[in-house]
Amino acid sequence: MIQKQKLFGMEIDALNMGQAIARLREWLDESRLGKCRYVVTPNVDHAVLWQEHEGLRDAYRKASLVLADGHPLVWASRLLRRPLPERVPGSDLVPKFFDHCQDSGREVRVFLLGAAPGVGARAVEKIRKRWPLVNVVGVYSPPLGFEKDPDENEIILGRLILTRPDLLVVGLGAPKQECWVAQHHEHLAAKAALCVGATIDFLAGEKRRAPYWMQCLGVEWLHRMLSEPRRLVKRYAKDAWVFPQLVLKQMLSPSRAWN
Ligand code: UDP
Repeated sequence: MIQKQKLFGMEIDALNMGQAIARLREWLDESRLGKCRYVVTPNVDHAVLWQEHEGLRDAYRKASLVLADGHPLVWASRLLRRPLPERVPGSDLVPKFFDHCQDSGREVRVFLLGAAPGVGARAVEKIRKRWPLVNVVGVYSPPLGFEKDPDENEIILGRLILTRPDLLVVGLGAPKQECWVAQHHEHLAAKAALCVGATIDFLAGEKRRAPYWMQCLGVEWLHRMLSEPRRLVKRYAKDAWVFPQLVLKQMLSPSRAWN
């Protein structure tokens, strides 16, 4: 039984990277064909959004694993005495799981869903070179607004049925990716789905991760904001205002159920 820590209403699994990879491995080794399990990776922005977004809450409730994406959540968890062992960012989990497959000599079938047109194909080239045992069986960049179009949804579900991936890597941005996977997970022909934001861009070399020192200092968000200021400044300003209030609220009433 995995220990869960309740933070700002979200229930986060207290797992480190190695344990998360082991859990994914177990899911993929099971031959059971049923609903697709999925992973969400909360960061500060999710914590803020979660307070007011019923769709995101529902997606979190149905997720099989909830892993802390960023340092600030881990720091807050320690401050609030509900400690998480370490951050397990989606954009690290994917390449590290590929490392695990390569090192253990086990092929994994992967479908990349999301990112701009052409990015998935570039990611495939890089993946083939670095992890020959990662077999990308499908790539699809759905058009804007696809989530409201039943035909588009059918196309995606159909491609998954045809290609039968073990792992569906979903990079549609939050909260779209979480809500979409939650809505469809009972019909996704994959063993597991990972809701991992810009990971396909990172795999393709389209976007760069923050330098390691920035990741260690917990300021990866600053790197992202400087690389996409028009999209992200407003969001991060809100997060910087609301998140400390969430920490304070939980500090002042740690035992109260938070809905
Ligand atoms: N994206 C997409 N379809 C959409 C919206 C976004 O494929 O309708 C992709 C976008 O191209 C990028 C990723 O989703 O690859 C966004 O990831 P990011 O982590 O930056 O999103 P965030 O959750 O921070 O908004």
